[in-house]
Amino acid sequence: MVMKVGDYQGDYRVVSLAFDEEVKEDLRNNELDFLYITDKAVILYPDQLILSEDPNVIELLKKAGNYDVYGLSGNGRLIEYYDDRSIDNYFFITGKCNSNCVMCPSPDASRKKGESSSIENLIEIAKHIPSDTPHLTITGGEPFMVGKEIFRFILFLREKFTKTEFLFLTNGRIFALESYVEQLAECIPYDSVLGIPLHGSTAEIHDRITQAAGSFTQTVTGIRRLLKKGFRIELRIVVSRLNAEDMENIAELIATKMQGISYVSIMAMEMTGSAYIHRDQVWIPYRQAAEKIENGIRILLENGIDVKLYNFPLCTVKREYWTLCERSISPDKVRYAQTCESCRMKKICGGVFAGTLGMEKGELKKII
Ligand code: SF4
Repeated sequence: MVMKVGDYQGDYRVVSLAFDEEVKEDLRNNELDFLYITDKAVILYPDQLILSEDPNVIELLKKAGNYDVYGLSGNGRLIEYYDDRSIDNYFFITGKCNSNCVMCPSPDASRKKGESSSIENLIEIAKHIPSDTPHLTITGGEPFMVGKEIFRFILFLREKFTKTEFLFLTNGRIFALESYVEQLAECIPYDSVLGIPLHGSTAEIHDRITQAAGSFTQTVTGIRRLLKKGFRIELRIVVSRLNAEDMENIAELIATKMQGISYVSIMAMEMTGSAYIHRDQVWIPYRQAAEKIENGIRILLENGIDVKLYNFPLCTVKREYWTLCERSISPDKVRYAQTCESCRMKKICGGVFAGTLGMEKGELKKII
């Protein structure tokens, strides 16, 4: 949520929200900046400065909750960083990426010139997040593009969040360097998984998708080094027209050369950004994609590797694979077609991405 709260003229700062006395006292005791929201006013602490008495602003803020975290800019703009009621919170490290995947849902420009968050700001946000939060994701772009500075932030996370589950989304290329593996091992939080995409079984297929020569060798080397060091790894395969025929080979590669992988997530595409621009090259209808991955799934399962299917609507996948399907699309992005309204499975179906709904041509069929 982004909104404006009155005429704040001070410096940028990170604030928590408090809607009752108990939370207000807790935040005060922890010496954190916060907004205290009553029925009459929005008050900035510790300054005790009334930012707004506008009932519309108060009403809008009441949609948020205790312990939510926002960035408050000099012009009074609030940008949401953390929603305490969600289990899907993330730290956005940088928009930059050293790959340029043809099916990336982010636009090309954000990967080349993307903004990076300062490490100080990331630490300040983390200070405001309650230490018992269940899950946090570290994402980008490619988070490790900010260099070794990131380890200072990761160490802070490990020291504060001892019970939180972390997911680090990275293309894994940097871990071809032993020094990065060593440093990550020293500071990674206790309950962490690294989510790394593997796009093909050969350099030809993988590098064609990442549009980055050498990325296959770096990613595979990185995965092997991380496995050797005992990291937990989720491999992520996004199915497109460019790799659907290669699924069996990818599964063989994982089963024979990457022993110790925690699980493999096979994903349908989100058709925004570069994926949409390259739609003629990459888009594969759900049902075709689901069929092409069947042998790959079998090989992985036969080798004792867990498989999850992300972003596949249930009606496009054979019933026997439904137990592998996750409701993976976040509430702000998920959409259902008209036929879904009378579908018996809607409650347990993960639907489709808002940006992908326009690509499906009558594939969704209600289950009755
Ligand atoms: S019809 Fe809609 S709700 Fe039903 S399985 Fe398909 S996508 Fe899901």
